Amino acid sequence: MTEADVAVVGVGVLGAATSFALASQGLDVVALEQFGVGHTRGSSHGTSRIFRLVYDDARFVRLAREALVLWREVEEGVSETLIEHTGSLDIGGDLTAHRAALRAEGVEFESPSADELRRRFPLLRLPDRELLFQEDGGIVHAGRALRTLLRLAQKRGLRLLENTRVETITTDGAGVTIQAGPAVIRAGALVVTAGAWAAPLLARLGVELAVQPTRETVAYFRLDPGQRVPTVYDHATPTAAEHSLPRGGRGAYALPAPGVGLKVGLHQTGGPADPEEEGRPDPEAVRTAAAWAASRYELADPSPVSAE
Ligand SMILES: Cc1cc2nc3c(=O)[nH]c(=O)nc-3n(C[C@H](O)[C@H](O)[C@H](O)COP(=O)(O)OP(=O)(O)OC[C@H]3O[C@@H](n4cnc5c(N)ncnc54)[C@H](O)[C@@H]3O)c2cc1C
Repeated sequence: MTEADVAVVGVGVLGAATSFALASQGLDVVALEQFGVGHTRGSSHGTSRIFRLVYDDARFVRLAREALVLWREVEEGVSETLIEHTGSLDIGGDLTAHRAALRAEGVEFESPSADELRRRFPLLRLPDRELLFQEDGGIVHAGRALRTLLRLAQKRGLRLLENTRVETITTDGAGVTIQAGPAVIRAGALVVTAGAWAAPLLARLGVELAVQPTRETVAYFRLDPGQRVPTVYDHATPTAAEHSLPRGGRGAYALPAPGVGLKVGLHQTGGPADPEEEGRPDPEAVRTAAAWAASRYELADPSPVSAE
């Protein structure tokens, strides 16, 4: 039997960050991952994610600022860039609440004209709508961040068990017992960071999590090296009337995908999904993402190079 202070179940970026934080406090941590770390079945793999300070709620702005300080601390320890500041561009929609939240937290932002922005980012095609540019926004190097957090946690004593699927968890007054194949882990505390798999796992502990996993599609487009683009969140398009995806969605987003080009997605348009099934990109989502990308960028090649 393996014994630990804390067991972390699921090693996507949240499990890796949790393991790093706990191990940094001197706790003895065991983390269990059902696949190999960096696998493509969860949410944390790949080139990049948007990092932004722009939210419509001051609490999230504050959290994002605090997170940026912590990311910088991690970067300093490893001399690696995990967050790259491209700037973030929000295309309204109504951005009144976003502006208020930024002002409440003392975060500087600009409200440039489309012409001003095009001078900085010639590839952008901008509509005649409200624009908000914030210079601290950018991308997290997703796969690199996951690996870095884990490496740092392992240096602090984390024991990582890959290809180890947790099947049962039982609790008693003194802690938890975890069964994962032939492995049995006894820990004083448990953190479940199992992403889309969390609800059935927690249900066995009597914890009801009212969540429904969905399968979201993203498409990638080629960008010539050296072409600068900010991260973009287009709040108003495409509308539900402009596509036939499972859910209406909440706008479109795009971000640099280092080594690939531009990553484009339609926020919250995917249908309900079972994480046990591998799934495929939705061709209609790829088509809609390509149409949006062609309307917002001067792309040399408007056909996606890949999708996932
Ligand atoms: C298409 C898409 C685009 C996104 N874009 C952005 C963005 O631009 N900016 C942003 O901030 N966020 C973005 N996100 C969200 C972000 O990627 C996720 O919030 C984050 O990756 C979630 O990490 P996680 O560790 O909770 O989940 P996951 O990465 O899914 O990790 C959960 C892990 O638990 C493991 N697991 C599950 N059950 C068990 C078990 N029984 N035993 C052992 N292991 C188990 C799984 O295998 C998995 O590795 C995006 C998400 C998606 C899907």
